[in-house]
Amino acid sequence: MIASDLRSGVERLGDMIAEAKTIVPFTGAGISTECGIPDFRSPGGLWTRNRPIPFDEFVASKAARDESWRRRFAMEDTFAAAKPGRGHRALASLHRAGKVPAVITQNIDNLHQASGFAPDRVIELHGNTTYARCIGCRQAYQLDWVKRRFDQNDGAAPNCTACDEPVKTATISFGQAMPEDEMQRATELSQACDLFIAIGSSLVVWPAAGFPMMAKNAGARLVIINREPTEQDTVADLVIRHDIGETLGPFVGN
Ligand code: NAD
Repeated sequence: MIASDLRSGVERLGDMIAEAKTIVPFTGAGISTECGIPDFRSPGGLWTRNRPIPFDEFVASKAARDESWRRRFAMEDTFAAAKPGRGHRALASLHRAGKVPAVITQNIDNLHQASGFAPDRVIELHGNTTYARCIGCRQAYQLDWVKRRFDQNDGAAPNCTACDEPVKTATISFGQAMPEDEMQRATELSQACDLFIAIGSSLVVWPAAGFPMMAKNAGARLVIINREPTEQDTVADLVIRHDIGETLGPFVGN
């Protein structure tokens, strides 16, 4: 059912939240656009400006690694300045109220942690761009360390000091294996909830986009909040095609 207007959508969502015992939110880039971080697929989004660099290209090509870090540092002011939005804060309120055990996210911006979720309560399907890892031995690096090396070496991406393999943001690129633990936990959460809320995702990036249907098939009610239609709207119990901040703002509590 598509909510006819914002008010009736918020009312219906409020009823569904009140009736639910266990709510699992699933978030995409749309929850962070009001925080100043562009999404991928909206007009003017990152997708239209830069073709993503697939993992095999990052591994094979020094030029691709340099370009990938150049792009990351070009976004640093945006990521560093971003604060949790109304959507993040509403989910954090429901988490504190004991309704939301954890959030599954496709986002890499760390804003759920910043809003009050403990790190182990944020299931990051696509990793996190606020730090880096060696792609060989998995050693973690702070971005400051990468930036210093990058600047000292005329824009050349650094390798790991321990094993000399490339260092990459701790994100999952296209063509890179999904993180097993996170996939397992997201599966368990999707199958155990009675309300699953997909927020700000175009639901086209797989396998992440499989979780809403997994929850629905396991008996949960499914809500989709996204200003554009998605392919899964027809199976949802409630579709709210409005701004996320406006929709979830009323659920921001203490
Ligand atoms: P997407 O860009 O494919 O889809 C975002 C959706 O959110 C769009 O359909 C858009 O219409 C909607 N949207 C944007 N702002 C909205 C708002 N204020 N209210 C309501 N709807 C809004 O994003 P995706 O499905 O998350 O897939 C993109 C991939 O890119 C993700 O897997 C993620 O890893 C990565 N990414 C992450 C970030 C981030 O961490 N903030 C930003 C860009 C891309």
